[in-house]
Amino acid sequence: MHDNKHELKVLMLDGATGFYRVQRYRVGDFFGPVDLGIHLAFKHNALTIGAGLLAGSVFPGSNRLIFAGISPCWHGFYVSSMGGAALIFDNLGINMLSLIGKAPHPSLLYLNRNHGEEIEVELVPVVPERIWDQGRKGVYAVMEHAIHLFGPRYEKDPRVLAVGPAARDSDFGAIGSAPVKKGELTHVDTWAGRGGFGSKLFQEHGLVGIIYGGTHIDEDFRDRSVADQWFQDKFNQRMAAKDMEVTTKYRYDPKFNTGGTFGVNYAAMDGDILAFNYRTIYWSQEARRDLHERFILNHYLKQFNQETIQTKQQRNCGEPCAAVCKKMHGRFKKDYEPYQTMGPLCGIFDQRAAEQLNHHADRLGFDAISVGGTLAWLMDCLDDGLITPQELGVDRVPKWEVANFDVVGDSMHTTRREYTVAVWGQKICAPSCTGKGEAGA
Ligand code: SF4
Repeated sequence: MHDNKHELKVLMLDGATGFYRVQRYRVGDFFGPVDLGIHLAFKHNALTIGAGLLAGSVFPGSNRLIFAGISPCWHGFYVSSMGGAALIFDNLGINMLSLIGKAPHPSLLYLNRNHGEEIEVELVPVVPERIWDQGRKGVYAVMEHAIHLFGPRYEKDPRVLAVGPAARDSDFGAIGSAPVKKGELTHVDTWAGRGGFGSKLFQEHGLVGIIYGGTHIDEDFRDRSVADQWFQDKFNQRMAAKDMEVTTKYRYDPKFNTGGTFGVNYAAMDGDILAFNYRTIYWSQEARRDLHERFILNHYLKQFNQETIQTKQQRNCGEPCAAVCKKMHGRFKKDYEPYQTMGPLCGIFDQRAAEQLNHHADRLGFDAISVGGTLAWLMDCLDDGLITPQELGVDRVPKWEVANFDVVGDSMHTTRREYTVAVWGQKICAPSCTGKGEAGA
C-alpha cells in the first residue's frame, strides 16, 4: 500500500511524445491493475503494468506483476502475470505504469526512484537487432544490456522486462524477466507469456525493455499476527502452514516422489498424455498408457527427477516463497506447459532435445506455449505431406514413427536447431526475417 492508502498512483507515459505524469485514482472507483487496466485499455489502448494493493505485504503470491491490455493475439482484453516481478516494482512507490502511444524509435525505458519524491523517467533509443545479437542473446541480452547501461544508477538491484525478435515479428511475443542478484542476471526467468504483450510492448509502444527499481519503502501490510488470525478463522491454520499445504504440488509432492508442474502433471497423467500434435487422442487408452510409461515415466520424467528433484534444483521467482516452484537444470528452467508443447506435443521426449528447443524459443522471446502449439501443427503437416520441407525452407521431416521410436535420437532429430529455426523463420516471422534466427541463437 502506498503513501495515501486511498488512492492508486499510475505513471502514465506517452511514448510518442515522452510526456508523463502521475495520475491518481480513488480506491473504490478502481481497485487494481485489472479493473483500472480495463478502463485504460478501452480509453487509450493502454498497456497497464502494475500490482495490487497487497503488493509488498506478507501475503504469498501478492507480488506477481500484472499486465493488462488489449491482446494483439485475440484483440480482446486480457490479463497476464509474472511471478515476483512486482516486489521491485513496489520500490517505485507507484501502483502502476500505463503506456500509451508509441516511441518513434525502438527504446529502452528507464524508471528509478532514488530516495526522492520524483520518479526518474528516460526513454533511450536503441537498435534492437544489435542488442539481441549480444551475450546471452535475445530477451536475455536486453536484460543484460539494460543492467550494463543503467545498473550502476540503482542503489538496490533493479529488474528488467524484456522482449526478443518474436515481439517484432509475431503477435505472440512474450515479456520475460529474471531476478537480478548483486548486479548479476540469474537464470530463473519468469514470463508474462500469454496474450502477446511482448508484441504489444514492441509494436504498439516501441519498447524493447523496461528497467525499473528504487529505494522507496511503503508501509505495506506486514503484520503477520493479524494475517495469522485471519487464516486461523478461515482455515484453522496459520498463514505459513496453509501456504505450505496448498503449494505442495509446486514444491515436492511425496505422493508422486516429484515436484513442480512438470513432475506432478507427468507423474499423474497416465493415459491422458497428449503427443504428436494431439494425434494420441485417436489412440486407444492402452496405447496411450504404453507411451506414457515408456517415453515419459521411464525417460522424460525420470531424467527430470534425477537431474532436478533429487538434486533439489529449485528456486523462487524473486519473491521469498515457500513453493520454490522454479525447477532448474543448470540454466534451463522446467515448467510443464512449455516442456509439453515443445516436448511430447512436438514428438520430443528427451530432456536434452527439449532444453535446446525451449531455450531457443525463450531467447527469441516467444510465448513458449503458443509457439510450441504452432510448431507441433507444422510438424504434423510436414509428417502428413500437407506441407513440403521446401515450403518451410527445411531439409527434412520430423521422425514421428512411433513403432521404432528412438527416444533420444529421434527427439534430437526433431529439435535440431537449424530445422526448427527455419520452420519459424519461414512461417511465423515476417517476410524480412532471414529464417536464420535474428537473435543469432
Ligand atoms: S516461486 Fe513460484 S509459486 Fe512462489 S511466488 Fe514465485 S511464481 Fe509463485
